[in-house]
Amino acid sequence: MQSDIVTRCAPSPTGYLHLGHAYAAGIGWLRARQAAGRFLLRIEDIDTTRCRPDFTRAIFDDLHWLGLSWEEPVRLQSEHFAEYAVALDSLQRRGLLYPCFCTRKQIQAEIAAAGHAPHGFEGAVYPGNCRHLSADKRAQRIAAGEAYALRLDMAAACQHVGPSNSKTWPLHWQDEDAGQQAATPELLVQGFGDVVLARKEIPASYHLCVTHDDALQGITLVTRGSDLFAATHLHRLLQALFGWPVPAYAHHPLLVDDTGERLAKRKNAPALRDLRAAGVTPAAVWQQAGLDPAAFPK
Ligand code: GLU
Repeated sequence: MQSDIVTRCAPSPTGYLHLGHAYAAGIGWLRARQAAGRFLLRIEDIDTTRCRPDFTRAIFDDLHWLGLSWEEPVRLQSEHFAEYAVALDSLQRRGLLYPCFCTRKQIQAEIAAAGHAPHGFEGAVYPGNCRHLSADKRAQRIAAGEAYALRLDMAAACQHVGPSNSKTWPLHWQDEDAGQQAATPELLVQGFGDVVLARKEIPASYHLCVTHDDALQGITLVTRGSDLFAATHLHRLLQALFGWPVPAYAHHPLLVDDTGERLAKRKNAPALRDLRAAGVTPAAVWQQAGLDPAAFPK
């Protein structure tokens, strides 16, 4: 009988898959298989400047070669910008987003002038210049055609989901290894600051789309690399803002090379398709990734 467990693998088609991707996909697939649940593949291709359809096709091809299968149709995020716009609109109507006109250079200059910047999970935390623009000024700059990103007013967002409702506050999420985690306002405000939820050139962001789609697709267990552990705090806040269900999380270690460096597409990780062309078998790939080849279809 099928269980309620739904896992997913959500690669971005910015290059060919390597051993690290095989490992991540294998873990998601195995967790679904072991629980007699469902496994989905989702293509996270909102960054149309870096993602390519031929890489998407290669993902299907490489994962099939490894023996994995998933439910069809596969969701391609680039086909769903209208849905992400609805989510953004809901935040905007609650006054939780503001337009940010800053360029990367301006932000760097601002940080340099301040002498220091609090360092968060994703680099320097945005100093918040555009948060203080008046409504008139914003309207003027938008009318003048200036490009802008949309940032989440983090303090306001925490306030919005928070203190008055003791049942949901503080926010928590469950990591299989690390146990229960608290996504506290301090951590969100200091660790992330006002994150970008829609970029200047792309009307959405990874954080928004991944959380939106995990909810939409009924994912109950998110398996992904430990590099995204901190991001889960932010994802938990987004879930609370939208009233989305909260999946369980299992963050797995990232595969590293002999020198201990994380495998990366352009550096030290041969593409799966090159391994395949060199005669390496799927079983050998699983073995090398540290997963039991016998657990996967031949
Ligand atoms: N698309 C992300 C990546 O390729 C993974 C997102 C996730 O698993 O949450 O790194």
